[in-house]
Amino acid sequence: MKETILAKYGEIILKGGNRPRFEKMLIDNIKRALKNVAKCRVAIRQATILVDDFEEDKIDIIVERMSKIFGITSITKAALCEKELPVIFETAKEYLKDDLSRPARFKVEAKRSDKSFPLNSTELAIKLGGDLDDAFPDIVCDVHNPEITVKCEIREAGAYIYILENRTEGQGGMPIGSGSKATLLLSGGIDSPVAGHMIAKRGVTIDAVNFFSFPYTSDRAKEKVIDLAKILARYTSRMNLYIVPFTEIQLEIRDKCPEEYMTLIMRRFMMRISEKIAVENGSKALITGESVGQVASQTLSALDVTNAVIDMPVLQPLIGMDKLEVINRSVEIGAYDTSILPYEDCCTVFTPRHPKVNPKRKDVERFESVLDIEALETAAIEGIECIEVYPD
Ligand code: ATP
Ligand code: MG
Repeated sequence: MKETILAKYGEIILKGGNRPRFEKMLIDNIKRALKNVAKCRVAIRQATILVDDFEEDKIDIIVERMSKIFGITSITKAALCEKELPVIFETAKEYLKDDLSRPARFKVEAKRSDKSFPLNSTELAIKLGGDLDDAFPDIVCDVHNPEITVKCEIREAGAYIYILENRTEGQGGMPIGSGSKATLLLSGGIDSPVAGHMIAKRGVTIDAVNFFSFPYTSDRAKEKVIDLAKILARYTSRMNLYIVPFTEIQLEIRDKCPEEYMTLIMRRFMMRISEKIAVENGSKALITGESVGQVASQTLSALDVTNAVIDMPVLQPLIGMDKLEVINRSVEIGAYDTSILPYEDCCTVFTPRHPKVNPKRKDVERFESVLDIEALETAAIEGIECIEVYPD
């Protein structure tokens, strides 16, 4: 007997003729994510991902890494043994003894993809169920309402035995790389990492842009953004992070535009510069973390004024979410503790006392026209620092 890993995937199964292409992407993504973690073999057989040939003590880290790969719906540790009935019984008794040694309702579900196995699925389930019932006095068989479902899958490589309820939930979604690329406007806040995660979950490759106001924002603030990008990279495997120097632009806006329009005009610069970066890196859309009504710059008129300056679609996956829902997601993806670190963001430094709540495009265009937009943008783009980010 040895311990191995089985994983299931979701939506790809619906992809018909394209399914092999999606499966290959998923396998490649798994291999990439495990490359620095453990030597192992990854394959797909009968709509199941099989990971084996790894050192025993690596199993938990492999499961943990796989739980962050989009496309996988669940991951299970399983015992793998010879396809001989006595061996299967002995392996099940040994491998499942902790779970079956306390009072519980249980049932056995068997599956036979190797049709040369002498018992069919029902016969195997009944035999194994009876055997376990005899071996463990505390458990009772209940096929309608079990607390524990013992699974036994007879496959090419052998018999896989595990408890269904012990599986680790996967991310779901689609494999990264199946949905072209988008550029995320990544601040140091709670919302934008969640927005990036939601779009990446649909298979979209992500690069990120951060606008940085040195010396008004500290190196610690920059480290925080890099850390957030690293957390996202656990799901996306790697990304480019473009750090754009934003101070000149902010000072110009502060000096030459009405205070109540400062945030809006700043946001329009962010959108225009991000679109240029996105065109350059092959992105098809921008991603931002607004939700309607959260702050003054996120009213529908403010979003209209902000998004009007670019042609590229702007994906705003949090648009209908409450702050609490976003916080819960942020905790789930492991970004929250980093997001709430108290280092200043470039926008917090230059916040107007009374931001315009219902701005009009015409007014903003007029106030903005005193600035040399092109020169400011060119200078900012020339100052970009591009950092390649990998998961920790
Ligand atoms: P977040 O929690 O993501 O910072 P927020 O609620 O603070 O969002 P805003 O400050 O209005 O909202 O920003 C709205 C969106 O604009 C952010 O979600 C992010 O996508 C983008 N953004 C804001 N500041 C920056 C920045 N310094 N660099 C890159 N993108 C930014
Ligand atoms: Mg913010």
